[in-house]
Parts: sequence; C-alpha cells; structure tokens
Amino acid sequence: MNHMMYMPLMISDAIVHAGRHHGRTEIVTRCVEGGLHRYTYRECERRSRQLASVLGKLDVKFGDRVGTLAWNTYRHLEIYFGTSGSGAVCHTVNPRLHLDQIAYIVNHANDRVVFFDLTFLPLVEQLAQHCPRVEKWVALAERAAMPDSSKLDLLCYEDLMVSVSPISTWPTFDECSPSALCYTSGSTGNPKGVMYTHRSTLLHCYAAAMPDSLNCSAKDVIMPVVPMFHVNAWGFPYIAAMVGAKLVLPGPNNDSESLYALLEEERVTFAAGVPTVWIDMLRYVEDTGAKFSTLSRIVIGGATTPPVLRESCRIAGIHAFPAWGMTETSPVGTCGTLLARHEDLLEDARERVLDKQGRALFGIDMKISAGKGTEQPWDGESCGELMVRGHWVVGEYFGQADTAHESGWFPTGDVATIDADGYLQITDRLKDVIKSGGEWISSIDIENIAASHPGVSMAACVSLPHPKWGERPVVFVVRRPESKVSRDEMLSFYSGRIAKWSIPDDVIFIDAMPINATGKIQKMRLREMLAESGVKAACVD
Ligand code: AMP
Repeated sequence: MNHMMYMPLMISDAIVHAGRHHGRTEIVTRCVEGGLHRYTYRECERRSRQLASVLGKLDVKFGDRVGTLAWNTYRHLEIYFGTSGSGAVCHTVNPRLHLDQIAYIVNHANDRVVFFDLTFLPLVEQLAQHCPRVEKWVALAERAAMPDSSKLDLLCYEDLMVSVSPISTWPTFDECSPSALCYTSGSTGNPKGVMYTHRSTLLHCYAAAMPDSLNCSAKDVIMPVVPMFHVNAWGFPYIAAMVGAKLVLPGPNNDSESLYALLEEERVTFAAGVPTVWIDMLRYVEDTGAKFSTLSRIVIGGATTPPVLRESCRIAGIHAFPAWGMTETSPVGTCGTLLARHEDLLEDARERVLDKQGRALFGIDMKISAGKGTEQPWDGESCGELMVRGHWVVGEYFGQADTAHESGWFPTGDVATIDADGYLQITDRLKDVIKSGGEWISSIDIENIAASHPGVSMAACVSLPHPKWGERPVVFVVRRPESKVSRDEMLSFYSGRIAKWSIPDDVIFIDAMPINATGKIQKMRLREMLAESGVKAACVD
C-alpha cells in the first residue's frame, strides 16, 4: 500500500518548479560575447527542454556523459537542466586544469559531446587531438559569433536550438540515476570522478538551502562566483531554482572590478566564492572606497577563511560565514551559523565561533578518527582525520573498482576537531600537516596569524625537512602593495600568539601566491619553491 505518494526526486523538478512558481524571476548573465543577457526562469525551463531535444538529435542516450568547458552563464545552466533532466549526465570539466588532465578526464568519462564557451576554442582545438571519441564539439554561441576553426567541424549551439521544438514534458526515471559528474582536482595521481545522482543532488540542495545552512530564499539575488565547472558551483544553480531566487551569473569576467559592478547593478544580496576571490574584492573596495549597497552576506568555502578577511567583510557591512565541503560531498557538509545562545555573546566571541567551519547539515554525519577504528571525543581539541557519511557523500569513484570508504565512512584527508556543540574545525590537510618533534603544527594557525599582520596580503605555510625535528614550518608571504614588513618583524609577530616551538623557522616573501585550478593555494608548488630556494632548516634546540 502506498501510504504517501512516491515521486522520484528529479533534477528537472527544480527548473519546472522555478518556471511555474517563479516564472518571472530573472537569470542575468554577463556574456562571453560581451554585454548582459537577461531572461526568466520560465524561458530557462523552456530552453532547457529545447536543449533536451537537441541532445536527442545528437543521439545522446540515457546515461551518456555530455562534457562542458564553460563559464557561469545561462547556456551552461540550460545544459545543467537539459542533460540531467533528459537522463544524460552533465560532466563539467575544469578548463583551468592542465591539458593532459583535461584530456584524461574527457576520455575517462567517455564524453561523446562537449559544449564549450568561445574563450576555450584554442584549448578545444588542442584537446580534440587527444580525445578521438568525442563526436561533436558544440560552441556556445549564436551563428554570427561562430569562430572559424581550421581544425574542427564545430556545431553552433543556437543553430541547434532553433532546429528543434522543446520536448513536451520531462521524463521520469529512477532517482538514483546518474545526473552529473565532477572530477577531483587531486594534486597527486589522476583526477577521480564523483558521479552525483538526482536523489543525492536534490537532498543536498534541500539541506543546503535551509536557514542554518546557506539560508536561501525567493527574496535573494544570488551570485555564485564559484565556477559551475567545479562541484556544480556548490549547488547554487539548483538551489536558486528550488527557492526561486534571482540568479546572477558573472560569465568569464571574474576580476574584482567587474564582479563589484555586477553585484551593484543587479542588487545581489548573497554571493559565494573561495577566500582568494574575497581577499581581492575587499582590497578593491578598500582601495577605491566603493560601498556595497545590497550585498549582505557571503559564504566562503574551498579553503580556510582567514579571520582577518571576515573582519574586513564585517567592516564593509557584509556577514561572511564559512562552509566546508569537497567534491566528494557534493560539496556542502557543514555551514558556519550561530546557535541561539551565541546571540548574547560579545561580538568578538561570536566571531570566534565563526572562525570554525560550522555544524553538519542534516543528512551528513561526521566523526574524527583516532586511528584503528576508534573515535576522538568532541572536545574541540582532540584532532584526527575527519570522516563523513551521508546522502550526498561519494559511494565509489566513477569507473574505479575500489571503494572510497572505510567501514561505511568516507575518509576526507582533512585533519580536524569537533567541539561539544558539533562545530567542526579544520586544522590541516593530512598531507600538509607539519610533524615537528612528534607534535603536529597546524599550518592553518600559522597562516591565519601571518594574514592578520597589517602588512600581509596572503600567507601559506609548508614544511621544511629537518634532521632533528623531522619537519619545521616555513611561511610564504605576499606583502600588501605598500608594505615593507621584514622577515624579523614577521617572526617576532608570532611571539605570544603561538607556542614558541611552532614559530616558523623562516619567512619567504613572494610577489604572488601560486593558485590552482579551483582558486586554492598550491602547496605542492610552494614546497618545490622552498627546495629551489635553498633555505636550510635552522638548528633549533
Ligand atoms: P575540493 O574537492 O577541490 O572542493 O576540495 C576539498 C577540500 O578543500 C577539503 O577537503 C578541504 O581540505 C578544503 N576545504 C573546503 N572547504 C573548506 C573550509 N571551509 N575550510 C577549510 N578547508 C576547506
């Protein structure tokens, strides 16, 4: 007996809902070809059905992977809904990766069709030589903007669209069917694919939209600066449709000046991005004296938020809060929001709560491993590897026989503590932690202290091999433009702020941080730079 109706959770339902119940709400894109494109959820839903027809015409079958090399735009959004909605898999590929990695990913996924933004034509022309199984390369453009390619027979997105009528209704199928695929940006070994399903995606988005999570509503104007080519832009394309929020997509222009102009013109209330985006943005507003007139909150994830960045946001009138997650967790696992009893705390104490990465969303369970199958207490001090499980956590990597699990839990590779209220605090990546004389030194603590120095723009800490202590910390620092802060000043800045034995052995000043394809600091490159620099471990007794 069906006590309650059973309806499979379908990604197409999100855009159908937006089209029916928020039909006049806008989606605004800064286009690759220049200028702004503006339309409504109703039009987006219709064009996504039109794209589903195009996929049929291109002979894309149920479960086939459809690749994208694309910015945050309305056409990319149509591909999100058109592919998944029709039973194909939206495989977003990170164009900032190295050509070899991109080719590996496209081949491993067996993409049959790849949609790409015009920006990436030179990349696609090279890529095609390494990816013989891709049958169609579709340029996301109208006929007038189509480029000449001597190397490839390109299809034109808008030509394909006008050649078909939209499918009349979205198909319904098993909610555990694959919907989207994203590869990890692993710094070692080949990238691994995480295959999301309709069910995992919608459960993730229901939970991520809630008030103590990302707190999204139809009154919001949401701008995901986080790219749609990595972990589905943290779910924002689906979440915005589910709640009916206006969506602002910044396209290819991700410099602070362009982003700021769009935030203001489109009256954005909520934006999302990695710390480096906001470090640059806050510097831009400080330097120009610009003010945010509508932006009231931002979520920062992908890496630790230096407390000083949240302070700059507070001064600029923005509430900045952290979220933790990874490709393998769809990605949102925890969000940094306050409990009722924190409301009475002084502002500074409240801010310290938000220095942590927040509490688990309902649907995610977490624990800290003490090794050998035992668990650390939730005391905010005992650290170990963070393990997670839940409805939107990877089961197995795509196309790999080995499971990603240990006894039903996914080992994240993050070192963390959890306190009595359930607030997670990431102290390191397992591979970045500095083991000195048998003790663990948190590279994040060292970075946060350096970043709080007024003369410092960015800091990153890595380990230096040491004959006696095993490893010692060294901190790389990018100075602010006007700053002349010296090595000795930096080292004495640590006194009293951290245990003496944790103070870095050295400070290396560099002009810019090496940043990876997802906007994070490349610690592997820093370790190479450290080796090249010839800095030797100081003999600390
Ligand atoms: P990715 O799979 O590329 O999205 O990277 C996931 C990793 O980014 C996590 O395992 C963490 O190491 C790091 N990360 C994500 N969010 C945060 C955060 N809020 N604070 C600290 N590290 C984070």
